[in-house]
Parts: sequence; C-alpha cells; structure tokens
Amino acid sequence: MYFCIRDDDTNFFTTPDDLEHAYGEISRWGPVSLAIIPFCRPGTNRAVPEHVRDRLSIHPLHKNRSLVEYLRDGIAQGRFEAMLHGFHHDEEHGKPEFAEGSDLARRVMDGRKYLEDLLGASIRVFVPPHNTIGRQGLRALARVGLHLGGVAGLRGGWPLTSLKTWLLWSRLYHWRKSGGLGIPWILDLKDHYEIAGNAVTPRSSLQRNEMIFDHALTKDGVFCAATHYWELDMPSLESGALTVGEQLRKLIARAQSDSRVTWRSVGEIVSTGIPKV
Ligand SMILES: [Zn+2]
Repeated sequence: MYFCIRDDDTNFFTTPDDLEHAYGEISRWGPVSLAIIPFCRPGTNRAVPEHVRDRLSIHPLHKNRSLVEYLRDGIAQGRFEAMLHGFHHDEEHGKPEFAEGSDLARRVMDGRKYLEDLLGASIRVFVPPHNTIGRQGLRALARVGLHLGGVAGLRGGWPLTSLKTWLLWSRLYHWRKSGGLGIPWILDLKDHYEIAGNAVTPRSSLQRNEMIFDHALTKDGVFCAATHYWELDMPSLESGALTVGEQLRKLIARAQSDSRVTWRSVGEIVSTGIPKV
C-alpha cells in the first residue's frame, strides 16, 4: 500500500518557520506534498493572517523571497513536492474558484507555469480550493496533463455520458455498501487520475482515519492524509486531548512501522504505474 501527505494552502503569507514547525521533522522521514497558491487573494481563506482576512487584494508568491528559497531547497532535497492549489484560491464573488468560470484553463496553465518557473519543480497534481471543482475546472486540468488531488464525483464534473463514470460510480457504491471506508484506489477518469484525500483536521476522527487506513491496507491501495500546516496545533474535537498534528503523527507512525506501506509524494503515487481502477 502507498501512503502520502497532502498539505493545502501554502501562500504568500506562509513563513518558512510555519512549514518548518509543521514538517521540519516529518519531511525528513518522507515527502510532504504542498498544494501552493500562486497569487493568493485572502478572501475567506483561514490560512491567511486575521488582519488581512476578507481582503480582495492579490499577493504573488514570489514577493515572499524567504519562503520561495525555503521551498526551492526543500523540493530539491525531496522533502517537499509542489502541487497547484488554484490561482487566487478565493474570488470576489465568494464562490469556490474552480466551481465554474470561463478562464479556468488559463488559470491552470498560468498558475502551473508560474510555480514551476519560480520553484524549479514540475507540477503533476491540482488541488481545488475549498475542495470544490466543476466540469470546466476538471477539463482545464486534464487538458494540461494534471491529475486531481481529491475526487470530483458526479457533482464535481465527472462526465455523465461516459461509461467509465458509471463503472467507477458502481464500484464505489458497492465498496461502501459492503462496509468499505474511504476510497483506497487511484481513480482513472481516462484523461486524468484522481486521488482521494482523508481529512486530518480538528473535525476529523483519528479512529475513523485508522479504519480507512486499514481498509486501504487490505486492498493494497493508497491512503492520502490531507491536512493544513496552519491547524496542526489545534485540538481535535473528537479525539480528546490529541491535536491535529498528533493525529497526523499517529497515522505516520502506522505507515512507518508497517513493511507493507510505501511512503511517496502524491504526484509520484498518482503518476507512476501503480494500479488504477
Ligand atoms: Zn485551500
């Protein structure tokens, strides 16, 4: 089975200390895949400092020189992977950036090129802001050969006229019906792949994530922990005294102690030859 860590929201306001505090140690054990915002517009994004929240100003990543250097070094050392997390992340109209819109293809193309040039890295995965994507967004990322961090599903743009859509839908339906948790497979939508994220947040349950992890193990599949560096110190609502970061470390400990588990970056797992359904 494969294990990976996806972290969303690295942006102009992120400091190297934020990432070092969250992943300094962890990223020396295995790669952490960062979903990065190229031109952050604060809006409702809880990752930005409170004093800029709700603003509609735009903050390009390259203006934070120390962060860019930190990311370039970390990526070169294999500690981090860069993924694309929207273009602005938040919009003036308040709806999720990639839910709909006529210029999503341009945003995906320009955002990817900007990050690749700035960070000296190739980008393989797109993570939609607010975990929301629609038909146009899905087409935009497939057109440039990116894969999806997350599962779009019927509401998020899977083509309703495609046989593949219904085969996948049926497989997931039967998996759930038989008590299966999470989505232990990389999904093959023909023009791109999708990898489900398992939320590790204040609202998530460690016990449930451990069960999903075990189900993925029985399928020799994949478990992707999806979290945010900015909430790792927060207490979990369901798991008593554990912080979000402690939950994450428990899952990492499982991955490290089981010889059947291989820890890789999200992009490597999605784009290499592991079996897809
Ligand atoms: Zn985000």
